[in-house]
Amino acid sequence: MNPAGKPGKTASLMPVEVALARLLEMAEASPIRERERLPVAQVQGRVLADDLVSTLDLPPWPNSAMDGYALRVADWTGEPLLVSQKIFAGQAPEPLKPGTCVRIFTGAPVPADADCVEMQENAEVQADERVRFLESMKPGQNIRPQGQETTVGELVLPAGTRLGPIEQGLAASLGCAELDVVRKVRVAVLSTGDELVEPGQALGPGQIYNSNRALLCSWLQRLGCEVIDAGILPDDLVTTRARLGELKDVDLILSTGGVSVGEADFLGMALREEGELALWKLAIKPGKPLTFGHFRGVPVIGLPGNPASTLVTFALLARPYLLRRQGVKEVEPLKFQVPAGFVWPRPGNRREYLRGRLENGRAIIYKNQSSGVLRSAAWADGLVEVLEDRTLMEGEYVVFIPLSEVLG
Ligand code: AMP
Ligand code: MG
Repeated sequence: MNPAGKPGKTASLMPVEVALARLLEMAEASPIRERERLPVAQVQGRVLADDLVSTLDLPPWPNSAMDGYALRVADWTGEPLLVSQKIFAGQAPEPLKPGTCVRIFTGAPVPADADCVEMQENAEVQADERVRFLESMKPGQNIRPQGQETTVGELVLPAGTRLGPIEQGLAASLGCAELDVVRKVRVAVLSTGDELVEPGQALGPGQIYNSNRALLCSWLQRLGCEVIDAGILPDDLVTTRARLGELKDVDLILSTGGVSVGEADFLGMALREEGELALWKLAIKPGKPLTFGHFRGVPVIGLPGNPASTLVTFALLARPYLLRRQGVKEVEPLKFQVPAGFVWPRPGNRREYLRGRLENGRAIIYKNQSSGVLRSAAWADGLVEVLEDRTLMEGEYVVFIPLSEVLG
């Protein structure tokens, strides 16, 4: 029921979370199992195939967090101490001579028997080069203990982790020169529609430039997929069937357009003939019609063709599917609750993903939310989720999904 008390049309539409759950289930049924070993510098955007277990204590020995002096707290009487050695990062120290201190620099190993480091700002070098410590000290102070980050045998990154600069740095810190990653998912991108023309060509009557191809090919690359650019499919069953048949060595055929049950639904016809087809009507806006099926055993996802619909359904449904095929566990973007900086007076029967921005901590939305307007997303920082049957007053909380969360 919507707030007006009338039964909505929502019941006949598939909720977004149901569609996502089904897609993830299907992704899990055909995981990518092949793997490859790559230098750590080349694993950006890839998925870790095995647990990364530490073979080191990190740091391997206690080391100084400061430039200063290492000593034993118990040796401090207030009298100046003799400096018995100087240790830079990269050097191996001698054990501490009782009753002395050691000049030490950040990252240098703390000598055995020293139990604290005093920063140089709290030390006074005397004329005879002995050092007076001005304040009392605590054992352990300014020492980074051995294994504070990780110890031998500890699980540092589980299999299924997506690798980015931070994980690459972490793996390198553990001495990994190479990592085993899941092989890239091979995705064929198809645009459908007689009206489509590639940029660079002249537009004829009734024609528009193909934007989804550029959008999806680039996005898929950022997701670590191997992209097979399968061009534009005309609205014609024979060609559709033939072109789909050429796409054999792919893990997914991702098409846009032609998924409404209209007369021009040639992709649907081809799938019905040579595979299987589920046509979902989703409670999502922009979006709604989404195809999932198989063509001669190859999974096919058909996204709606309007560019903003393509963007939203790819971000929320196809992206998680692709990541899960590679074994990624956390496939959903981080979401934040923010106050709405706009009003939403009329409840809808589909969940809306408005292209919006944060301004002074509030979500505002682009003036034109038509599914044909991709500029709305170029202007936006994120998707503002407005639930089915929901109205909003300014200041009420909405979910904000940063585009940066889903673009990579
Ligand atoms: P369809 O789902 O094929 O009925 O397409 C819905 C709308 O999206 C129509 O206005 C199409 O012209 C448009 N459209 C479909 N594919 C693309 C594309 N690749 N690039 C730009 N617009 C498209
Ligand atoms: Mg079309």
